[in-house]
Amino acid sequence: MVSAMAVARFLAPTLAALVLSCAAPARPVAETPAPTPADPAPVVAADSPPVQAELQAKPATPIADAFRADAEKILAAGMEGRNAFAMLRQLTDHVGHRAAGSPGYTAAVAWGKTQMAAVGLDRIRTDGTRVRVWNRGTIDAEVVAPARHRLDVLALGNSPATPKGGLTAELLVIQEYEELEKLGEQGVKGRIVLFAHAMPAYVPGGDVGYAKSSHFRTRGPARASKLGARAVLVRSATAKSLATPHTGVTLFDEKEKAGPPVPAAAISIEGAELLVRLASEGPVKLKLSITSSTGPMVAAPNVIGEIVGRERPEEIVLLGAHLDSWDVGQGAHDDGAGCAIMLEAVGILKRLGLQPRRTIRVVLFSNEERGLDGSVQYAKDHPPASHVAAIESDGGGGAPVGLSFEGKEDAPAYRRTVDLIQLFAPFGATRLITGYSGSDLKHLTEVVPRFGHAADISTYFDVHHTAADTLDKVNPDHLQQNAALMAVWAWVVAEMPARIGDPL
Ligand SMILES: [Zn+2]
Repeated sequence: MVSAMAVARFLAPTLAALVLSCAAPARPVAETPAPTPADPAPVVAADSPPVQAELQAKPATPIADAFRADAEKILAAGMEGRNAFAMLRQLTDHVGHRAAGSPGYTAAVAWGKTQMAAVGLDRIRTDGTRVRVWNRGTIDAEVVAPARHRLDVLALGNSPATPKGGLTAELLVIQEYEELEKLGEQGVKGRIVLFAHAMPAYVPGGDVGYAKSSHFRTRGPARASKLGARAVLVRSATAKSLATPHTGVTLFDEKEKAGPPVPAAAISIEGAELLVRLASEGPVKLKLSITSSTGPMVAAPNVIGEIVGRERPEEIVLLGAHLDSWDVGQGAHDDGAGCAIMLEAVGILKRLGLQPRRTIRVVLFSNEERGLDGSVQYAKDHPPASHVAAIESDGGGGAPVGLSFEGKEDAPAYRRTVDLIQLFAPFGATRLITGYSGSDLKHLTEVVPRFGHAADISTYFDVHHTAADTLDKVNPDHLQQNAALMAVWAWVVAEMPARIGDPL
């Protein structure tokens, strides 16, 4: 048995920083637009006023009290070593990026199975998920008039190629969809459209503008195409840039609003600003060349492993993260961190010899980024009703903040969580936010209480979907803290006598 004081002493070096950055009252964010299908949109902003009392008081609560000793034991054991980072290092440095359907993804599947075996999971398996291959090819974009400038760009996932040798057309700068509709086909046809909407800078304690900006990437090209645009550039969904374009998926599947697929690319903030300045002075001509291509359907399975429950093995507590990444960088924060956090969470429980009442199932999902194929397949194969709860980690490996909950505040699962999240107090991560869980949980439908692991994302979107999402951006201490907290959460939800979503 390890006392609370021992946990506090053990954590002392990092605790002060966490108190400053993490502990804050819950802030509903239900007004945030729902994220688009393959669009990870964590909604947590961490920097809020310190709430020191939260750490010390540990209010007596009916369910949390029953698990307080367990939680302290798990947190203390969980912080011995930095296994989560060691796992992530294997993935980032020895597999690298791993777009679903690529050889990197096949290597990542092997990594996932190896890690599951190493932490001691049972029933390790892959499923029948298949995905359409998309190859990035090469890209080249430049301003040819009024002056020559090479632009920093990355093709968007699903973009088709330009005609061989590229296309040259006049630029049209658009800030909001209304301008596009107002101009109509006459104003848009034949142009290269730039969606220049700027994602707002991160505001401590405030909302994160990703969900309000990224839809220009996911939906903008299709809407411009419907009015005859020849190609589309989208200002990268980030508030900070060092000439770094941020890729991501674009979709042409909304029948009424979408035109045929057109070449589409993300452009760095610097490039977008240049184009806006030039366009304000007069006509701008661009040349764009993309050689991306679509390939066959190939196997790209989810990887699944379990701690089988001792009393109710048929009741599932799902811990999810997505195994695929974009085909640039290393996918260290997105979502290698989530995979390592969830695998290490169950590893901690196994090292402690804890076998919960229910089954804890880890699912490393396929192709979250370009179509959610893994989660669609998973929901097809597994009846949602067998799930007691699901939690996804897909917001990077920043300092822990707490949990998000997809649903209403009068839901029994939410009300129990208000109480249980006090168990995260030793790491100051007691925020509970409503409005979002994780893209991969979308298809589990509303019968399953769904949660998201919430970490500090103040710098997450600086590297998200870029060549700069690499291991050096991940703090090993934060990663391990997240894993320890997820171990507590998995244990409590899988062990508590009632299902977390049962009527109160
Ligand atoms: Zn992600």
